[in-house]
This record gives sequence, C-alpha cells and structure tokens, in this order.
Amino acid sequence: MGFYHNHAIVLKQSVMSVDFVFDPTLNEITTDLCRDYWSYSSPNNYIAHVEILCQSYGINYFLLFSTLTKCQAYLDNVRCDFCGRPYELDVPADIPYARSLGSWFCEGCISFSGGQITVSR
Ligand SMILES: [Zn+2]
Repeated sequence: MGFYHNHAIVLKQSVMSVDFVFDPTLNEITTDLCRDYWSYSSPNNYIAHVEILCQSYGINYFLLFSTLTKCQAYLDNVRCDFCGRPYELDVPADIPYARSLGSWFCEGCISFSGGQITVSR
C-alpha cells in the first residue's frame, strides 16, 4: 500500500486514538481528507481549519461536509462504561471534551435503562 507516506505518519501520531469507519464509496484521497479533518481537536480555530482543508484538497465546503458524513469517527480510548461502545464523535471539539469525562454512557444505554444510568459530572 502506497499511502504510508510521511504526512500520514504524522497524522497517525496526532489522531492515534481516533478510529474511523469509512463508507465503502470513499477512495484513498477522501479517507485522507477525513483523517486530516479529525486531526484537529482545538475548538478555537475550526473555521480556519475547514478553509485550509478545502484549499489544500481543492474542494468546496459542500464536498467536504458531504464526504465527512460518510466517515464516522470514534474515540477508541473513551468507551461506554456499561456496554463498551466507543465514543462517537460529531465534531473535532468533542475530542478534548470526551477525554475530560471521567465516565461516559452511550445514548443507547441511557435510554435503555430508562434514565437509571446517569453520567456523574
Ligand atoms: Zn453503552
């Protein structure tokens, strides 16, 4: 496989604990795009990050976000305390938030338990 170039290795370190489930229609370039998107976790400069991504891949916002909907990101080291399901990420700013949680229960477990399980904050 030819895609383990230097760029990918750097990203691999910074997003080490993020797991991806890619839609089978995504090719190598678009999966790289998803990894680049999720390599950024600071909430301060999200717009700039998105602009840089669009510029470097030569795409528009619509294409970026329609690609991102085909890629689900999970945090491998933050799992539901009850069923062990990995934390599902919606935006990169979820990463520092999820890591700061002492314990986490997935929505499925919370609704299944009828509110018996609550996250202590
Ligand atoms: Zn669960």
